[in-house]
Amino acid sequence: MPTLVMKFGGTSVANLDRIRRAAKRVGVEVAKGYDVIVIVSAMAGKTNELVGWVNETSPLFDAREYDAVVSSGENVTAGLMALTLQEMDIPARSWQGWQVPLLTNSAHSQARIEDIPPHNINQKFAEGMKVAVVAGFQGVSPEGRITTLGRGGSDTTAVAFAAAFGAERCDIYTDVDGVYTTDPRICSKARKLEKISFEEMLELASLGAKVLQTRSVELAMRYKVKLRVLSSFEEQTDEAGTLVVDEEEIMESNVVSGVAYSRDEAKMTVVSVQDRPGVAATIFTALSDGGVNVDMIVQNVSEEGITDMTFSCPTDQVARAEKAMNAVRDAGHLEFESLIVDYDVCKVSVVGIGMRSQSGVAAKMFKILSDEGINIKVITTSEIKISVLIDRKYMELAVQALHDAFELDKAA
Ligand code: ADP
Ligand code: ASP
Ligand code: MG
Repeated sequence: MPTLVMKFGGTSVANLDRIRRAAKRVGVEVAKGYDVIVIVSAMAGKTNELVGWVNETSPLFDAREYDAVVSSGENVTAGLMALTLQEMDIPARSWQGWQVPLLTNSAHSQARIEDIPPHNINQKFAEGMKVAVVAGFQGVSPEGRITTLGRGGSDTTAVAFAAAFGAERCDIYTDVDGVYTTDPRICSKARKLEKISFEEMLELASLGAKVLQTRSVELAMRYKVKLRVLSSFEEQTDEAGTLVVDEEEIMESNVVSGVAYSRDEAKMTVVSVQDRPGVAATIFTALSDGGVNVDMIVQNVSEEGITDMTFSCPTDQVARAEKAMNAVRDAGHLEFESLIVDYDVCKVSVVGIGMRSQSGVAAKMFKILSDEGINIKVITTSEIKISVLIDRKYMELAVQALHDAFELDKAA
């Protein structure tokens, strides 16, 4: 039997009615003759609630216990989906990550998948089960503890299953009908893409476009998984949604093909550090050892051998960053005057493989932002993207202005 992976995100399983609707969609594929692996997220809002409870209980939590708590949302939806399918006379069984088992490393809250031995599930398919419903986002460490794969991790569960079972396709059902040039919720002119390259999807995802978790795109690219994003709220055809494909399959593309944003950024300045070899290494080693994912970095011009070091990191890692900086100072490894934290920032990025061959994109981006009176605080670039850190209150304005000026509403 050919295998299909279908993943339903939080809004697609937000209540019993929606689970029924998703189950019907699964039934359509079963009727076509597929063995189906369904990956479910927690009901919409559930994971946020669980994360909130953990933070309230223990701000610098033990990540093993964080995983024990936040993985639980998916257990509920997996069981409910299996029951709903059974009510429709479709032989279905639910699986938690450890039961499959979905084996990960021990990097709690950000674990990476190491292996998915398929024989337990395959044996059930051989016995007549038609649908394996698997709780997304979770796995089990070598120590036998529950792990989670980072926020949005059910997408990665889905792609990893598609690779492990040689699935014909991995369909990601969500609350938008595909991948757009930017988030359609903040830009009404956003245009749905029929296809997007892995490279561009990878950048958009890593720069904040939540529609696919970055790691899921990496895995799909590596294992050549046919990956599709589509809506669980509409009747679907075989051509619906957006396909993520190899670069060669995209005939024409705009220089800039998408705009992404991330609200979840904070800027921290380590004020008055010495400008000498080893200082940056001390700061960023301490941050990395403290579990802080530093993103953008700038160092001021020094005056009399003293400078400021500024970096950005996710807002929920600021407490860890402060702790790490104070610890190196207390240990006598670093001197600085103070730490300044700015929570009111966001990152806006433009992405496009066309940037490899065309110059002037950065200059145009900066001009568009300056015409809107938006001040840029930090800049980073790579081969196919340019990112800026700006005040959060200008986020929507910046995304819309860039989308307009780069004419993303028009196809190439
Ligand atoms: P799910 O719960 O199904 O995993 P997510 O909330 O994680 O859904 O991701 C879907 C959301 O991603 C959409 O509702 C949309 O607001 C957001 N999004 C951000 N950028 C894009 C984009 N370029 N194209 C489509 N959706 C996007
Ligand atoms: N429920 C998890 C989250 O909200 C995983 C997912 O939905 O992909 O991050
Ligand atoms: Mg998601």
